[in-house]
Amino acid sequence: MDYQHILQSIQQDLQPLAQVGHQADYIPALAAVNPDQWGICINTLDGTEHALGDSDVPFSLQSITKVFALAMSLSLEGDDLWLRMGKEPSGTAFNSLIQLELEHGKPRNPFINAGAIVMADILVERLNNPEQAFINFVRQLSGSPNIDYNFEVARSEHSVAYLNTAIANLLKYHSNIHGDIDRVLRFYFMMCSIEMSCRQLAHAFLAFANHRDPFDHAGFSLTSSQVKRMNAIMQTCGFYDEAGEFSYLVGLPGKSGVGGGIAAVFPGRYSVAVWSPRLNSKGNSVMGMKALELLTTHTRQSIF
Ligand code: GLU
Repeated sequence: MDYQHILQSIQQDLQPLAQVGHQADYIPALAAVNPDQWGICINTLDGTEHALGDSDVPFSLQSITKVFALAMSLSLEGDDLWLRMGKEPSGTAFNSLIQLELEHGKPRNPFINAGAIVMADILVERLNNPEQAFINFVRQLSGSPNIDYNFEVARSEHSVAYLNTAIANLLKYHSNIHGDIDRVLRFYFMMCSIEMSCRQLAHAFLAFANHRDPFDHAGFSLTSSQVKRMNAIMQTCGFYDEAGEFSYLVGLPGKSGVGGGIAAVFPGRYSVAVWSPRLNSKGNSVMGMKALELLTTHTRQSIF
């Protein structure tokens, strides 16, 4: 498969979309990012790497880090995790309060904010130094020891965290947060603030494309069955209130973030990371989503 050639043709086909959409601006630090950037990187399980565009520029991962939080939480809690959250698509915005109230403080899935805040609570409760453990895990998965939090982005989000604070309060009211709300939220914003390039992110997701080799990173291990199930949750819940559309157009499990990144996997074959800050109305990167649609079309490879 000539991935490099395919990436070049995708880049050309994307040009009409270059100015479509707007970057996230509800977090002040994200509003300052140059929206006219785009990069992509594919890592295959047989060891090749193909990158194009701004694939070495670090960007804010935001909700993509919920996948790392899920891997760590599943490793620590096993199926008990599902006592505290579901695994169904939400059909609502990632930061919606309505469903959480109706469902008595049990988040629909780990990839909406409410689910990730519960996972932050689990990691704060179970780990001595959650910030250190989380970054160690991500560094080991990506093979890049220089990956780090962006304290300014975390602080910036915390300064306007009205909705996430409301979510955390509702969770606490329903006893689905055990620890101190401020502590849990501080850790949640730190997780979201991690920055990586497409190249680093594709590398980090390769472990989720691999169901055969043991998943054991920085002391967190998953069975191949757990990795398979994580893919299932990425497929059904990874793309905000557009998981069906993404499945229809692209057909790969993955996760997006409001920083404009998308990481996806083709189980048994490759991982791919794409980034472009301009988002559609659901919060997914316009060029990112189109690039992945073109990738599965041009390669004629699909999990379906
Ligand atoms: N930190 C962001 C928030 O909580 C993450 C949103 C996202 O990327 O989906 O609003």
